[in-house]
Amino acid sequence: MIELSLADRPAIVTGASRGIGRQIATTFAAAGGDVAICARSYDDVEPVAEEITAEHDGRVVPVECDVTDAEDVRELVDTAIDEFGGVQVLVNNAGGSVESADLLHRCDESEFQSMLELNLKGPYLVAREVLPAMIASGGGSMVHIGSVNGLFGIGLTGYSEAKSGLLALSRNVATHYGQHGVRSNVISAGTIETQNRRDEMESTEERSEGTSARDRWLDQYPLGRFGRPEEVADTALFLATERAGFITGENVVVDGGLTVGL
Ligand code: NDP
Repeated sequence: MIELSLADRPAIVTGASRGIGRQIATTFAAAGGDVAICARSYDDVEPVAEEITAEHDGRVVPVECDVTDAEDVRELVDTAIDEFGGVQVLVNNAGGSVESADLLHRCDESEFQSMLELNLKGPYLVAREVLPAMIASGGGSMVHIGSVNGLFGIGLTGYSEAKSGLLALSRNVATHYGQHGVRSNVISAGTIETQNRRDEMESTEERSEGTSARDRWLDQYPLGRFGRPEEVADTALFLATERAGFITGENVVVDGGLTVGL
């Protein structure tokens, strides 16, 4: 059995009050890692940190941080360094699209701007702030949570462009900081059934009066199902450890075969 351990590899996971980020923090703590997690409100992230710490080996520290705010991001990274003595793993997970995201001609400027802020500027700010700490620790691993929307042009204007940009951001880090032992990879995820995603699909279904949007989407997936947060988290864990020590600048697609079938 191959054991993946994050003991002595302190991590930051952004956007971990729920969904995929929460699962990544849980998986990392179960692998013995100490993790600083954030969301925009301390009240949302504090109980999550407490629950994970109570159940697993790693210690999880909650931080209030909006990843689009450079000062907040500085405090996030400083907290991780103060608590754990350094940062060797970053998961840029905070992100998402809005229900109103749509085709280009219906996407207004402010919506486009906010998608870029959250999904591209945020990861850039966190990566920039973490880099010196990673280099000082002798290297580390960045994992950016992208989307299949960043690989092909299907709707969700702003979100797709930002997730495409994340691939370039990651390769930029991989190219220029590999010499310092820093690796950087993207996980491009297909539909992952978090609680939020399930609620969203149910409400779309209600609006479309019985035609099952969920079933139409499922038809596109060769494996016949959506993904689970654990499946993204396990991939992130592998990329975070030195078991993936020769993998950098890559895009790992976790999509149940969706993009192969298209
Ligand atoms: P959720 O909406 O369930 O969770 C998003 C997390 O990010 C929450 O903890 C949220 O907390 C936090 N967050 C949002 N905005 C900010 C901000 N400005 N600063 C800090 N934290 C923030 O999303 P998912 O778990 O579904 O998605 C996680 C990542 O995976 C995203 O990058 C998303 O694009 C990507 N992804 C998801 C897919 C899916 O099907 N679920 C598919 C492909 C990619 P709060 O709102 O409390 O601040």
